[in-house]
Amino acid sequence: MPTIEQVVQRDICVGCGACQFVTRGEIQVRRNTLGYYSADLSHARPRSLATASRVCPFSNESRNEDDIAAAVFPAELKNDPRTGKYLSIAAARTTDDDYLRGSSSGGLTSWILIKLLESGHIDGVIHVGQGGDGLFSYRISRSRQELTARRKSIYYSTSFNTALQSIHGDGQRYALVGVPCFIKSARLLCMEDPVLASQLAYFIGLVCGHLKSAAFAELLAWQCGISPDELTAVDFRVKQPGQDAGRYSFGARAGKDTSEWTTRPTSQLLGGNWGHGMFQLNACNYCDDIFAETADLVLGDAWLPQYRSDWRGTNLILCRNALIQQLIDDGAAIGELFIQPLSVAQAASSQAGNFRHRHEGLALRLADDQNAGHWVPNKRVTPDHNVVGNRRRELIRRRRELSRASHELFAEAREQGSLALFIDRITPLVQRYEKYKAASLPRRLLGLAKRRIQLILS
Ligand SMILES: Cc1cc2nc3c(=O)[nH]c(=O)nc-3n(C[C@H](O)[C@H](O)[C@H](O)COP(=O)(O)OP(=O)(O)OC[C@H]3O[C@@H](n4cnc5c(N)ncnc54)[C@H](O)[C@@H]3O)c2cc1C
Ligand code: SF4
Ligand code: SF4
Repeated sequence: MPTIEQVVQRDICVGCGACQFVTRGEIQVRRNTLGYYSADLSHARPRSLATASRVCPFSNESRNEDDIAAAVFPAELKNDPRTGKYLSIAAARTTDDDYLRGSSSGGLTSWILIKLLESGHIDGVIHVGQGGDGLFSYRISRSRQELTARRKSIYYSTSFNTALQSIHGDGQRYALVGVPCFIKSARLLCMEDPVLASQLAYFIGLVCGHLKSAAFAELLAWQCGISPDELTAVDFRVKQPGQDAGRYSFGARAGKDTSEWTTRPTSQLLGGNWGHGMFQLNACNYCDDIFAETADLVLGDAWLPQYRSDWRGTNLILCRNALIQQLIDDGAAIGELFIQPLSVAQAASSQAGNFRHRHEGLALRLADDQNAGHWVPNKRVTPDHNVVGNRRRELIRRRRELSRASHELFAEAREQGSLALFIDRITPLVQRYEKYKAASLPRRLLGLAKRRIQLILS
């Protein structure tokens, strides 16, 4: 039996849409009532399931990140098990402070897309922006104006099938932007479809902690006084001049005609703490690719002490493509970019939380699942109950519990039109998580953590 069936049955589907694309719609990928995309395999013939399983990032019939990277990158690239292959690693930001205000981090992602477009290497960009099906969806941008308008990190479930279908066979070349699992499935699609392979010229990855369902945007907006039905736009990363780069705010807008945004610091909103994993897709519990190991360029935030205090934001970039490297070097030479080389150890330490969740956390979750008799996908991390001590083990399990419960509880609260219902029901789970978190924190940080969580829940 192709394991894509297990992927869907166990809710490990991330909703990328690769199976829909490769089966020409025999498999449908739709947004479900919990606010995330997932595949419906019920009308797929056995042969189609076998094909779809080869492009599904979580099935056992698809090639893993190491195999894909070996096939698509030159052998001479450096390699490290923490990051995958790389040509260079750096901290970077554009030097235009006005431009930076409209980007999530150092603005390099949109900057490189504009360079690729304006130097004629591509005709368009396939990336996520406002509008379409839901608040955000995959869009095609063909100009500097469109690329500049569609910036910032989109913590929202999307699917790329419709966008890929719309460009397939049009004879033009594109860059695709995506989180690591989407880049992986697009690479796998190119191995099945030579036309698509000739069109997807560059793969631009985003470092990824986890992906959220639509409920994340709705919960944060609701706390800003805008109910899910009124919500028309959100901004997940409003920069705060003078503050630490990580202390960004969340913005929400109601109605179609108003340009008025309501903004609140994300850290003061329930659900805004990434450690709680609220509305995280279950797929992310089974992911071991932090640095988009199959992308030509991957960009994230350089969460290192020397950059964190700069409110403008600073990217962490890992490059695996010589032409992109040349464009970045040229940008630095003419003063458009600030660049500082980083070591692979610095890159890894800037994503320390991601490593805890995706390496030791993954080892434990796989072992727990196997113990419970559940199918798990093959991963590059070995299942292991003893990878962490007792306290950390409980913390990882509580986070999973909180994350799982958040989806259903929010759907019910939304149905009843009651934010209070969600807060009442999720609070005991947050407190339980925080209890274990406190037990694993150094004493000096304990008081601080307690005060912060009391403030949010009050
Ligand atoms: C779900 C998610 C989780 C992330 N987790 C982490 C993390 O744990 N650690 C970390 O260091 N960085 C993480 N990032 C990356 C980080 O938030 C920034 O997106 C990244 O640093 C790029 O910033 P920038 O200023 O260069 O981008 P900008 O100049 O603001 O441009 C952003 C570009 O990315 C595109 N884009 C945004 N979101 C998506 C999406 N979901 N799918 C496809 N295209 C998209 C936009 O369309 C735009 O082209 C995450 C991003 C996402 C979307
Ligand atoms: S993860 Fe992607 S390819 Fe796999 S079942 Fe879900 S939508 Fe299809
Ligand atoms: S954490 Fe992994 S599975 Fe989840 S969205 Fe990011 S890359 Fe995909």
